[in-house]
Amino acid sequence: MEKKGGIGVEIEHIFPVIKKWLYSDKEIFLREIVSNACDAVTKLRRLISLGDETARNIPDEGFRVSVELDKEANTITVTDNGIGMTEEEVEKYICQIALSGALDFIEKYEGENGGDSGIIGHFGLGFYSAFMVSSTVDVFTRSFTGASPVKWTCSEDGSYVISACSEDEAPARGTSIVMHLSEEGEEYRESGKLQEILSKYCAFMPVEIYFEDRDDKKEEDAPTPINDTTPLYLKNPSDCTDEEYREFYKKVFHDYREPLFWIHLKADYPLNFRGILYFPRIQSEFESLEGQVKLYYNQVFVADNIKEVIPEYLLMLKGVLDCPELPLNVSRSYLQNSGYVSKISNHITKKVADKLTSMFNLDRPAYENIWRDLKTFVEYGCLRDSKFYDKTTSCLLFEKCSGGFCTIDEYLDAAKEKHENKVYYAADKVSQAGYISMFDAEGIETLLLDKIIDTQFAQLIESKRESVHFLRVDAELADSMKGEGAAEIPGVMDLFKKLVSEQTEIKFEALKDSSVPAVLNVSEDSRRMEDMMKMYSAMGQNAPASFPTQATLILNTSNELISSLADADKEKADLISKQIYTLCLLSQRRLSPEELRQFLTDSYNILGKL
Ligand code: ADP
Repeated sequence: MEKKGGIGVEIEHIFPVIKKWLYSDKEIFLREIVSNACDAVTKLRRLISLGDETARNIPDEGFRVSVELDKEANTITVTDNGIGMTEEEVEKYICQIALSGALDFIEKYEGENGGDSGIIGHFGLGFYSAFMVSSTVDVFTRSFTGASPVKWTCSEDGSYVISACSEDEAPARGTSIVMHLSEEGEEYRESGKLQEILSKYCAFMPVEIYFEDRDDKKEEDAPTPINDTTPLYLKNPSDCTDEEYREFYKKVFHDYREPLFWIHLKADYPLNFRGILYFPRIQSEFESLEGQVKLYYNQVFVADNIKEVIPEYLLMLKGVLDCPELPLNVSRSYLQNSGYVSKISNHITKKVADKLTSMFNLDRPAYENIWRDLKTFVEYGCLRDSKFYDKTTSCLLFEKCSGGFCTIDEYLDAAKEKHENKVYYAADKVSQAGYISMFDAEGIETLLLDKIIDTQFAQLIESKRESVHFLRVDAELADSMKGEGAAEIPGVMDLFKKLVSEQTEIKFEALKDSSVPAVLNVSEDSRRMEDMMKMYSAMGQNAPASFPTQATLILNTSNELISSLADADKEKADLISKQIYTLCLLSQRRLSPEELRQFLTDSYNILGKL
């Protein structure tokens, strides 16, 4: 006997809504239908394992889901040999429960301005998502109980028919969902496309999934499933080998480079999530920003890089995270404020920090070896999350200009006598080589902070440890470089006064290093300010030619050239002082074209006089 029905009044508009609104994420229909098929198998297996009266004699093997494309018939069919449904169940689950679930979803989705920002991965639309791509959907199903098979057919106007179905139409056990593709579903009439979607969403589903294209039927002896039913992240960390972790990484992220290391996450009740985070090998400062953390919900892929769930700086990593407790059928803003999510974040932050500190403590040389690859991530993490900073402070390294690495405490400890709480650093080993060597000569270590993020990081440390100051090598001379008895040399001040800008102060010092006639220092604060302006200025082209504010030109009275200036004739004194000043500028910044031209002319002039 046939039973007709209409999918009630209040839901009349549901189909057009499903079709239009989810336009951009239509492909999730396959995830929803295939995950239902897997659930149907899981349910039956559970009954078997519980020793259910009716299921008892069913062997616990041979479970599978197949996805079949039939281009000629214009259908995609998903078949499982799971629990199946009786007629009453079809009415209850498909016509009532699935429908009210879809309605709920639409309501929530509508509440989120109907925009894509709504529900993460459009999770929860369920069975009715099939109508995003179908004009008609047939369900052929036979319950494991042996009840007569049933056919349910529903068209896109919402009217359905339930009828008995012939023995050969229904699967021997389980359910077959036949989606008759509509115009909107046209793009899924393609094997490559379907395989791509399956590997994206279904790669870790718990039942073997096979894909078949009717037109391209290969006679395979042992067809291989498209998925891995027991992904590595679900296993016990103690049962996994390094080789398996590397293989998993390559397979999931298609990255031919080996990861640096990984963290297997396994949080039990109440957080209850699993995952593996990989630290990828980073080649450049910018590449590192493109991580990929895949979020799963009970082995079903939800979406990549969900910043509401994963701390932003962790998105630079690669990994998988399976959070079965995550309430996905809610808006993103809800998730962002959810206590559960912040607990996940905290847990992950702690695990990452623990891993870093344990590597640092257990094998420092190996840790130093990978530090360059790690540092952008770690520094960014510290800048973003003060908890992460607090947990990693002991293992934050700095590269020394002389080679090797040290922690900030090691640096300060060594510097205690000579320059307490002052950290000298260079931003460029080549152009600041002159300054660096002056510090070297005094046995003062300089750190190399040559990335944009390094200076921000240095400022973070200054804000956390109030007495510590970072000073670039061209900002000031360490007191220990200065000797006793500096006195102004008469007439020399005037020679330089006409060369320097108004804001430049001129000082005489008797430096221990007598080889350098003069040093130009720019105060750290004013240089930082200028750097900031440069960063903000949209043009970002050539550095401004005018010299920044608050500079000090130190004339070294222990240097012969300087001390001889007082006695030199005017022409010679002018030439030497100008050349000395320009050389100072040169080690501080790039010369302007005009300055450079003049410098060359003067230099040739001097050569002519030799
Ligand atoms: P959900 O899977 O979240 O419960 P759906 O709308 O996807 O919501 O499905 C509603 C119900 O329909 C399922 O809970 C299940 O009882 C039933 N169902 C859907 N697909 C199948 C299937 N392949 N086999 C058996 N039952 C199914």
